[in-house]
Amino acid sequence: MLQDDCKFLIVRFLVRNPDQRRICSRETINFNSYLWQNSKNMRKIEHIGIAVKDINASNKLYERLLGVAPYKSEAVESEGVNTSFFLSGPNKIELLEATNENSPIAKFLEKKGEGIHHIAFDVEDIVAEIARLKEEGFTVLNETPKIGADNKLVAFLHPKGTGGVLIELCQEIVDVRL
Ligand code: ZN
Repeated sequence: MLQDDCKFLIVRFLVRNPDQRRICSRETINFNSYLWQNSKNMRKIEHIGIAVKDINASNKLYERLLGVAPYKSEAVESEGVNTSFFLSGPNKIELLEATNENSPIAKFLEKKGEGIHHIAFDVEDIVAEIARLKEEGFTVLNETPKIGADNKLVAFLHPKGTGGVLIELCQEIVDVRL
């Protein structure tokens, strides 16, 4: 714990003293790799999901906004959605359009209108992470991970237990042999 505190202090110092960055860059690199290697749980935000009414119109909007075209479009039949993905630097934005009225996106749009639908976190082992979160008292909407968009295994946490934010867990499907 003490080591963690030291690392955070280094980062805070660098933010306040940007001219010292050159001297401390080795520490910053260590800090980043330390975070990545030691975070077995939710180790980074994988993407932000945004519910849209018309994905073609929203693709054009986000293309103007971000200055890049979507790098992927994909239908996920099991979820009743069409998706498209944009990159903003290393970060991903997922647009979601409902393909039928029973889609979770159709229900979301009806209740809340267009906007941020979920935040997705990258995890190394989705089964272990589901077990950990259940143990912590969170409600997992699908305890068996399912295949989502963008070559991922996914599971969702009920927003009632997470302060109103729908949380998605994503694990990259690396090599599936059936
Ligand atoms: Zn997502």
